[in-house]
Amino acid sequence: MKCTRCGKGKAIRDSQLGILPCNKCQKEEESFNKPELGPEFSTDSIKEGRREYYKDAIQPFRDGIFSAEFYDEYGTTGVKVTKEQIKNRKYVWKDTAGHWNRNKGKGGGKGRKTEKFLEP
Ligand SMILES: [Zn+2]
Repeated sequence: MKCTRCGKGKAIRDSQLGILPCNKCQKEEESFNKPELGPEFSTDSIKEGRREYYKDAIQPFRDGIFSAEFYDEYGTTGVKVTKEQIKNRKYVWKDTAGHWNRNKGKGGGKGRKTEKFLEP
């Protein structure tokens, strides 16, 4: 007897449940019936998103110190800094989420770096 669902596979005869769809159809149904993704998932995906676009969120300055994270990614694109500030740059965003693997994420300057500075 053919599967009643797809008409291709071999129907399964179950002594208690009667005729069941073929293995393939049963597997399909199982995957359809997977439980909804709970709130945990959405929290994770937000975290994931933050980390993924971490570089887009890097601010060039923190407490007046030029960010080395920013410099690594953008050089001096879009900021006005002096040579001295570049020299004294620091990794100022180490305490923010996503810092440690920021280079695995998307976003950022994609290598479009400029190196211009204000003459003192
Ligand atoms: Zn089937």
